[in-house]
Amino acid sequence: MIRERYSRQTLFAPIGKDGQKKLAEKHVVIVGAGALGSANSEMLARAGIGKITIIDRDYVEWSNLSRQQLFTEEDAELSRTKAKAAAERLQAINSAITVLGIVEEFGPETAEHLVEQADFVVDGTDNFNTRFIINDACAKAGIPWVYGGCLTSYGIVLPIVPGETPCLQCLIDQLPQEGRTCDTVGVIAPAVQITAAYQTAECLKYLTGYELSQEMLNFDVWQRNHVSVNISSMIDPHCLSCSSKATYPYLMKQQGIQTAVLCGRNTVQVRPAQTGNLSIASLVKQLKPFSESMKDNGELLIFTIENTRFVVFKDGRTLIHGVKDVKQAKKLYQRYIGA
Ligand SMILES: [Zn+2]
Repeated sequence: MIRERYSRQTLFAPIGKDGQKKLAEKHVVIVGAGALGSANSEMLARAGIGKITIIDRDYVEWSNLSRQQLFTEEDAELSRTKAKAAAERLQAINSAITVLGIVEEFGPETAEHLVEQADFVVDGTDNFNTRFIINDACAKAGIPWVYGGCLTSYGIVLPIVPGETPCLQCLIDQLPQEGRTCDTVGVIAPAVQITAAYQTAECLKYLTGYELSQEMLNFDVWQRNHVSVNISSMIDPHCLSCSSKATYPYLMKQQGIQTAVLCGRNTVQVRPAQTGNLSIASLVKQLKPFSESMKDNGELLIFTIENTRFVVFKDGRTLIHGVKDVKQAKKLYQRYIGA
């Protein structure tokens, strides 16, 4: 039965039995376990990629279930971390591969180390800041990756191979403007699926030894439009990320407490200067006089104070919901959780 698992994929001539063997020896890192990360990782797990690492900073909410296919109502009910819930589900889909779920932010501190171990990186993020970190880490390590984005019924896919194609920084003028997010204008599952399908196809092509196309693909699944733009001549010889003068600006580590506004979600993420020093048990004790509703699910702690909802991860990173102002979020973090 196990030998049958990949029979339809090996019958596909461009992959064949040799390609299947190659896939079993590869390691793919997927950044983000949201809609694109879920769809890509499920296809790659079923395809028999030897090792999959999936990293995500968030937890499962009910609004994710319409398109984030790895998650169940139980995951949302328990507020499970996406990385752990995804890794468990992927391992259940294919026990013959190795799956690692990392509950962390993909930032300058983690990016280089993770990317260096990969044969290929898949972008499953929802923001350009993280994509530029992927771009710099991949350019520095010489690892190819595929950018994917989707919003409403529209999607965009672009494979990037360091040394061969332009990088994301080279193409900055060609990229869609940020501002609209799936939290403000929505997204439908078919747009996610077609974007992920093209990303996974590029990943399988590269890992089985094929060259990737130098085209940025744009499509709208509702309007049934499909446009591909040749980008082969767009390498910027002065690019800060991929030229001989590269400084990799997005890999510069920041000092002190860091904050990030989660776009369209009325939420601020606060990251302590030192991660990994937090004890959830002592935090529970410390907060008991302030909060009546505290929920510790073993992966994170959720509590509400002053009508504000805090979600604290084991590494000390905290999402503060109901706040837009970074200064106020920092103040709340320092007051209730510590510096
Ligand atoms: Zn570049």
